[in-house]
Amino acid sequence: MKKIAVFPGSFDPVTKGHESIIKRAAPLFDQIYIAIGTNTEKDSFFPIKKRLLWLKKVFADYPTIIITEYEGLTIDFCKKVGAKYILRGLRTSADFEFERSIGQINKKMYPEIETVFLLTTPEYTALNSSIVRDILRHGGNPSKFVPDEVDF
Ligand code: ADP
Repeated sequence: MKKIAVFPGSFDPVTKGHESIIKRAAPLFDQIYIAIGTNTEKDSFFPIKKRLLWLKKVFADYPTIIITEYEGLTIDFCKKVGAKYILRGLRTSADFEFERSIGQINKKMYPEIETVFLLTTPEYTALNSSIVRDILRHGGNPSKFVPDEVDF
């Protein structure tokens, strides 16, 4: 059976932290859906089309990676595409507490699902999309924190 994973997130915008986790996970799965949850679309900084396009460019050379969007519960999207794994990155203990709760609830709601975590490499531990947005809001240049394909 094919090992299919979903990496859910906002990717607002995609950072080098996301890129690193997903590229390291690519050899572990037959297929990875990078899926932008659109429930909170109204609050997003970058429009969904742009976020999807950047992800498509970043992972263009990865035939097993599919870029898409979804609405509703992540586990329902996983069922729809036949994914038995949710992939997430872990930066800090705060991430762990947040992820533990979601992961355990998801498992309760969909017992076949397993959440798989990869530890962030040290150079990306402090990085998140909201810092990148803050730098932009204040007129700075965050290009060293995002993949080369991201053009603001
Ligand atoms: P959301 O905040 O909507 O959950 P994000 O796009 O911020 O989505 O993050 C999605 C996933 O990417 C999460 O598992 C998060 O831990 C991981 N992630 C975010 N930034 C980094 C980073 N710098 N290094 C590793 N993983 C990261």
